[in-house]
Amino acid sequence: MRKSHVESVTTETVVLDSIVCDLCHSEAPGGRWGSQAFYDVNEAAVGYREGIFMADDGGFVGMEGRIDLCPACFKFTLLPFLEAQGCAVEGRRVPAWNAEEPIAW
Ligand SMILES: [Zn+2]
Repeated sequence: MRKSHVESVTTETVVLDSIVCDLCHSEAPGGRWGSQAFYDVNEAAVGYREGIFMADDGGFVGMEGRIDLCPACFKFTLLPFLEAQGCAVEGRRVPAWNAEEPIAW
């Protein structure tokens, strides 16, 4: 025999309102740069994380940082700067079947 009852459960969801480019300060409502089509992806971020994952709950303890960039600042400001510093910037096509096309930033 099962006994049950009805409970009202309230949950909270984080909704992204916008992303502001930390370099040029342009804003992407809803986190979408350019196209507003649901399935389009056009995003860039630079992140850093140093620390440990806790064995008991998998939570992260340490330090992290993130810089949000619009795609234009990523392609036309950050990448040229990194290349000028000697960084070999690699891009790749996804999925692999599309890999033969050259990457043109
Ligand atoms: Zn920007």
